Amino acid sequence: MSELRWNPQLQQWVIVATHRQDRTYKPPAEFCPLCPTKPGAFPTEIPAEDYEIVVFENKFPSLKTPPPEMAVEGSDLYPVKPAEGICEVICYSPNHTLTLGEAPVEHIYNLIQVWTDRYQELGSKPEINYVFIFENRGEAVGVTLHHPHGQIYAFPFIPPTPEKELAAAKQHHEKHGRCLYCDILKQEREDRKRIVCENANFTAMVPFYARYPYEVHILANRHVGALTDLTEQEQWDLAEILKELITRYDNLFGFQLPYIMVLHQKPTKGDYPEYHFHFEFYPFNRTETKLKYLAGVESGAGTFITDMSPEDQAERLRGVKI
Ligand SMILES: [Zn+2]
Ligand SMILES: [Zn+2]
Ligand SMILES: [Zn+2]
Repeated sequence: MSELRWNPQLQQWVIVATHRQDRTYKPPAEFCPLCPTKPGAFPTEIPAEDYEIVVFENKFPSLKTPPPEMAVEGSDLYPVKPAEGICEVICYSPNHTLTLGEAPVEHIYNLIQVWTDRYQELGSKPEINYVFIFENRGEAVGVTLHHPHGQIYAFPFIPPTPEKELAAAKQHHEKHGRCLYCDILKQEREDRKRIVCENANFTAMVPFYARYPYEVHILANRHVGALTDLTEQEQWDLAEILKELITRYDNLFGFQLPYIMVLHQKPTKGDYPEYHFHFEFYPFNRTETKLKYLAGVESGAGTFITDMSPEDQAERLRGVKI
């Protein structure tokens, strides 16, 4: 049983998915459901002895097509709707420990092809409005399966964070006649203080207004709305900058830095010419041993406090040996 419940206080949907309680929780490496199925061994989620990159539907989906039966009835005060959508898992490689930082650039390039394909395919379904590609990495972020993998949520609505960004981009465009993100890029490339690394087609930087420690955004230098708009050269350059940034993260404290990685692309229905595709990384370590918690002011007031300036964070990431 599962449904979307409308939160009228914050005007946003909440997914109630009680069946997710029984999902696999931190299995030992020999029972990893994301490893290939070895001959004679227990069957994993992937019925093959080997694979490159594999995508499959999440066994414990928050959104599903056709949607599960709703557990409650809605009202005027409390609207509900079916939790329709699609949740997929992407295993990055058959190697149980290989992270994206360690993967060859060609492999990340192939992953970009997979992301592009899923964005297009899921986005073409009539019920889907927004394809959200992301990765949770590390136990600090609540990861229950250690095998490197990402996820996709294909939403029947535009979720609040992208919705807010879309509105801001639209407003900026109406006011100035320019793209908000192109303006940000221009400013950062002049300042240089917050740039972590860059190549011909992408720029990775700590935003002026970073909320998480060592938060980095990767922006396409060209005004493009989604992965599907990238040229082949841009896909290569994206693979390269992802590898470089993740390597910097992993060498920052000498361990795989826990983070959330999200792709913000234009919605898959409607026209959003003013939006600009980017990645956002939210790490959780303030220091080698201290984690950032979303405590009272962040959770209750929605205002983030950081204790290191974005300029210093960028300088530290730039100084990491790779
Ligand atoms: Zn595994
Ligand atoms: Zn732009
Ligand atoms: Zn964004």
